[in-house]
Amino acid sequence: MKVKKNTVKIITLGCSKNLVDSEHLFAMIASNDLKIVRENEKADNVIINTCGFIESAKEESINTILSAVKEKEKGNLKNLFVAGCLSERYMKDLEKEIPEVDKYFGATDKKKTIRDILKSLEIDYKKSLVGERVISTPSHFAYLKISEGCDNPCSFCAIPIMRGGHKSKPLKDILHEAELLSEKGVKELIIIGQDTTYWGFDNTGKRNLAKVLDELSKIKGIEWIRLMYAYPSRFPSDIIEVIREKDNITKYLDIPIQHISDKVLKSMRRGITKKVLTDLLEKIRKEIPGIALRTTLITGYPNETEKEFLEMLKFLKEFKFERLGVFTYSNEDDTTAAKELKDIIPQKEKFARQQILLEAQRKISLEKNTALTGKKMKVLIDRKDGNYYAGRTYMDAPEVDQEVIIDTKKKLETGNFYETLIYDCEDFDLFGEV
Ligand code: SF4
Repeated sequence: MKVKKNTVKIITLGCSKNLVDSEHLFAMIASNDLKIVRENEKADNVIINTCGFIESAKEESINTILSAVKEKEKGNLKNLFVAGCLSERYMKDLEKEIPEVDKYFGATDKKKTIRDILKSLEIDYKKSLVGERVISTPSHFAYLKISEGCDNPCSFCAIPIMRGGHKSKPLKDILHEAELLSEKGVKELIIIGQDTTYWGFDNTGKRNLAKVLDELSKIKGIEWIRLMYAYPSRFPSDIIEVIREKDNITKYLDIPIQHISDKVLKSMRRGITKKVLTDLLEKIRKEIPGIALRTTLITGYPNETEKEFLEMLKFLKEFKFERLGVFTYSNEDDTTAAKELKDIIPQKEKFARQQILLEAQRKISLEKNTALTGKKMKVLIDRKDGNYYAGRTYMDAPEVDQEVIIDTKKKLETGNFYETLIYDCEDFDLFGEV
């Protein structure tokens, strides 16, 4: 398998955790004088970092592999490598079904996967580059993964099957990576992991995310630290104080709850009751003034009755999250739910329930946005788009939340913060002037 050593392309699918993995691989490959080309360019060596989370993501991964196989058959690429969650989860089937792929790689041991891919490309793994990344997000923000895998038993989730058990990244490695990112001009760090609130428990038996946040807040040049993927059960309340007290930790928290009905939460094995969950959310809202709470809900879980769905809708309308994502239940092989429960709710009904929740959220979002008009807010400019700029307030994570649209003749710098007067809004966007 003679590798023509000049160009490499990495196609990254799925979540921000996959993106970070690709960025580490990027740095190793780039240091070996191999030219990395963009996703829309031709390359001799193509690496697809797949996602295997839910049905739609698996489909996208398979289609991406098949179109690369076609390119290979046309002689437009030499070597095709497939990595990531889908590869980890279905390697045997993929090797049989799509043998045109030169090599499949796992996803549970990141370092081993990177070493194996570099070996297949016949280039060196450089220890000195551990922590280094070629970031593929706009250069002023970057995701910072603080752990791999997950120890939680959520019945519907296949991630532990693909990513393995929880492993906290050592604090010194997290800080080293964050310092390298800050030196590159990154101003916003988005803290990710499958369950960020579990950090440290595997090493010390204590959840110590507060320590990570506190140390990260000391890094020069980092103006925003944003916490994602907090797990509500056994929530380490000491992070509430750190988020409140540190100016450069955004008053923002992504805390997926998935449902609110006790019966469904129990079946989902979320390890929490409606009462404890509601008390926690109210405590966070009370103790961190101005906090923006983002959550995720699932509709159509196998035993979700109309009554339980309406309970969730009622809770959503009463609690009013600032930001929301809604997924329809996906019956994932080898998960507890798939083994023990029948996926009885028709897709049409799952989808209808999803739309009802999103419509309720649209009204909540418009109400909250209307309350912001006339206010001044600090906005981080993400990009220039035609005649206007798009940016975010502290209440918005990139790619999943809303934007501030700024239509100005002034020349604004992407990656800079601007005091912005919000003069108008829509349900999921704000309009501002610098
Ligand atoms: S916390 Fe639950 S839903 Fe999230 S990755 Fe772990 S098992 Fe999956």
